[in-house]
Amino acid sequence: MTTTAGAVGADPAADLDAYRRGLRAHLAAPSLDRWRGRFHPTTEARIHDHGALLAALHGAGWNRYGWPESAGGLGGDVLHRAVLYDELSRAGLPVPDPCLMLETLAPALLRFAPDLADAYLPRYLRGEEWWGQGFSEPEAGSDLAALRCRAHWDGESYIVSGQKLWTTHGATASRLVCLVRTGTPESRHRGLSMIMIDVDSPGVAIRPIAIASGLNELAEVFFDDVAVPASRLIGAENDGWAVAMHLMQFERSMYAWQSAAVALRRIRELRDQAATLDKLPDGAVRRLGETYADVVSLRARSADTLRRLAAGQSVGPEASVDKVLLARVEIGLFDLARDVFGPAFLLSSSDEMREWRADWWFSRSATILGGSAEVQRTILADQVLGLPREQSA
Ligand SMILES: Cc1cc2nc3c(=O)[nH]c(=O)nc-3n(C[C@H](O)[C@H](O)[C@H](O)COP(=O)(O)OP(=O)(O)OC[C@H]3O[C@@H](n4cnc5c(N)ncnc54)[C@H](O)[C@@H]3O)c2cc1C
Repeated sequence: MTTTAGAVGADPAADLDAYRRGLRAHLAAPSLDRWRGRFHPTTEARIHDHGALLAALHGAGWNRYGWPESAGGLGGDVLHRAVLYDELSRAGLPVPDPCLMLETLAPALLRFAPDLADAYLPRYLRGEEWWGQGFSEPEAGSDLAALRCRAHWDGESYIVSGQKLWTTHGATASRLVCLVRTGTPESRHRGLSMIMIDVDSPGVAIRPIAIASGLNELAEVFFDDVAVPASRLIGAENDGWAVAMHLMQFERSMYAWQSAAVALRRIRELRDQAATLDKLPDGAVRRLGETYADVVSLRARSADTLRRLAAGQSVGPEASVDKVLLARVEIGLFDLARDVFGPAFLLSSSDEMREWRADWWFSRSATILGGSAEVQRTILADQVLGLPREQSA
């Protein structure tokens, strides 16, 4: 028996508690058990299976809240989406992989290219497609304004040439939202535009990148004179930096919220699995408590950020706080799991240990992805705290 969103009495779009109650009842359904505690040996298998979970949620309406009706949603705001990720984790279900880029990219589309959101977001919510974020390049990561991937207008289309690197889900995504240079090479952030590119366009080549766990979490993407219609521009030409800054507020805040929700589930699982062991390393229980406190701090901070976004406020550089706290949680939690499980963590081929290992490897990137820890701290020092700049020797 599943609960459909229309059957919970009060309007879930207007009443967040009604949404949470109805969703919680739905997520308890045995029909969703196939997604509980399931380990996937490859990234490709995982993301397709998570797409199927999105389809199941969509069938009953639950993942459509938080998105406008014009784009396939059922109304509500970012807090509905936060509740969805929370309740999925509470129910022992994964936050579907495609939701990371959904939260990063879709708010920018809704604001700067509503026609594209209306055209493609419904398919995303149904789990039929997902997108990648093409910002970083070989010599432009922290210094994004140095990027060189170029687009010029030939009278009919934008012609895109260049390379993107470290594209999450790039190997399976249908479309890429890319930051490209439409201005002069020295125009820095003033000469950038945001554009959506279909990966099946002639001239697009994608190479998966396996991270240290062996999983193809990332990809590099090459564009060789790829023609992209003007209708795929997100925001105005040369206004891509403003779109990117808007997008990063959601990327940093909602990624932190999703990760905190998952961390709470993983802490519960670590506690339960640790309780079956004969012996724990010294200090393990204290560290478990500290990690829990770190997650709760992250959630408190992140909830505040999301409430501000829901109220239409701009969060700006303060979203970097969430990102810094998140890295601390991820590294602390998975280092603790490594120490608790000891040799089994390294050697066991059980699905449980393979998943802890994969998560440990991925957590090594927590201080890099979405902007490195050093850069986040510099943003906080300069733009939030207004500290004097360091003098070079
Ligand atoms: C798992 C993962 C997923 C990712 N997903 C995506 C994605 O989907 N899309 C995308 O576009 N990118 C993605 N990235 C790329 C990520 O955004 C960049 O790796 C990150 O911004 C750092 O850039 P870089 O790798 O070029 O390192 P660099 O910018 O070369 O930095 C190297 C080192 O120098 C330090 N550094 C650089 N500048 C400064 C400074 N001004 N002050 C102090 N220290 C500094 C950095 O902190 C870092 O330690 C992903 C990365 C990872 C690891």
